[in-house]
Amino acid sequence: MAMKYISTRGDTASVGFEDVLLRGLAGDGGLYVPERWPTLSRDDMVRMGSLNYQDLAYEVMVPFVGDAISREDFRRHIGAAYAGFNHRAITPLVQTGTNEWSLELHHGPTLAFKDVALQLLGRLMDQVLRKRDTYASIVCATSGDTGGAAVDAFAGAERADLFVLLPRGRVSEVQRRMMTTNRAGNIHALEIDGNFDDCQGIVKAMFAHDDFRKAVALSGVNSINWARIVAQTVYYFTAALALGGPDRKVSFTVPTGNFGDIFAGYVAARMGLPIDRLVIATNINDILARTFVSGRHERTGVEPTASPSMDIEISSNFERLVFDLVDRDPAVLRGLMAGLNQSGGFTLPAPALEALRAQFDAGSADEAQTAAMIRRTHEEMGVLIDPHTAVALHVARGQERKTSPMVVLSTAHAAKFPDAVEAATGIRPVLPPGHDGLLDRDERITPLPNDVAAVEAFILDHSRISRTS
Ligand SMILES: *Cc1c(COP(=O)(O)O)cnc(C)c1O
Repeated sequence: MAMKYISTRGDTASVGFEDVLLRGLAGDGGLYVPERWPTLSRDDMVRMGSLNYQDLAYEVMVPFVGDAISREDFRRHIGAAYAGFNHRAITPLVQTGTNEWSLELHHGPTLAFKDVALQLLGRLMDQVLRKRDTYASIVCATSGDTGGAAVDAFAGAERADLFVLLPRGRVSEVQRRMMTTNRAGNIHALEIDGNFDDCQGIVKAMFAHDDFRKAVALSGVNSINWARIVAQTVYYFTAALALGGPDRKVSFTVPTGNFGDIFAGYVAARMGLPIDRLVIATNINDILARTFVSGRHERTGVEPTASPSMDIEISSNFERLVFDLVDRDPAVLRGLMAGLNQSGGFTLPAPALEALRAQFDAGSADEAQTAAMIRRTHEEMGVLIDPHTAVALHVARGQERKTSPMVVLSTAHAAKFPDAVEAATGIRPVLPPGHDGLLDRDERITPLPNDVAAVEAFILDHSRISRTS
């Protein structure tokens, strides 16, 4: 059985999982979504409740992959993807209060939840490229966490060369070193003399440059890649089934930037997992929380915060939810997105806003509230949490409805953001075992100007596909 994917903007023919994996964005500028949502029965979920993470991951993801990858290969890639996590449960659940749990997503090799998806994505892409007997050049603009996770996931890949574009001076030392100290020959860290938006602008320009894109077989791993969402859906199942699902509804609060992680929770709900509320938590860059209140989705600029992975003006994956909220009418969706591009915003139609509020809640935390939550968690529980997790905990505790167990997603290890944690608590968090050498290893990094042609020239020079053809 092969799952087909369609574009939210309606223009392109449906494609299979392999193309969705390699292409990222659809040809009409839309995002890929499954043609229909696969569902699991109550009996399926009861049975899945006794599986370990890897076996459960297989069951949740296989309807989306279909026959694109053989079952044996898929199981093998799942096993290898999570072998490098430092906790046997992969994403352990820890009780933090009455009816409140923390879902720890930071036990992977680069200490943030991006590892959960990218460790698998790297292996699946390499397999598809091998099968097609070709190479690809993967580009990734990063504000910090995605770059490191991609480096670890693609290091030593047989068929993929990775080029990470990071903004000079804007990422923490731990984040930078996770991108620059890997020795694999197929990994290239490019330090751009600009900010994150400049890096992202260069990536977009390269994708729009047809000759270049074809010459190096350009591909992307940013958070709109559908396979990342699928891999993140798994831990909503493990958490809910551990807390009494499918016979008890569970709620989740998710620190949100590009809307990928919380959209994975929505996918779990569409598959039949009984989820009560999905709570969107934002920092002061609160476009989503404002949309929730007024129905108006409007850009107002980005302010830097202590939780930089949520400093986002446009939440790309929100388009996938809006598509469902307007009953999958691509013409309506295209109209809303045109408004966002041309006048900086759109207003959700009333029935769509109502549908949003039926499943989601939203809230935000400012910088003082974030720091206070880091401090309070340390005082009360002796635990250091990172600023992204603190934003979510603040929002979760402010929810009025408390009808179900609340799971708060903990998306990064405190040691990845040592300055913010030290400022709030006076204590500098230490890196977990296995990372102690990070601050001493040699770095390999190429400084480049904020210039598309310079980056293209570097990639042409260093990608295996342009050297072999
Ligand atoms: C990427 C990231 C987020 C935001 O996740 P989205 O899927 O973009 O909403 C939150 N916390 C951390 C630590 C992250 O790295």
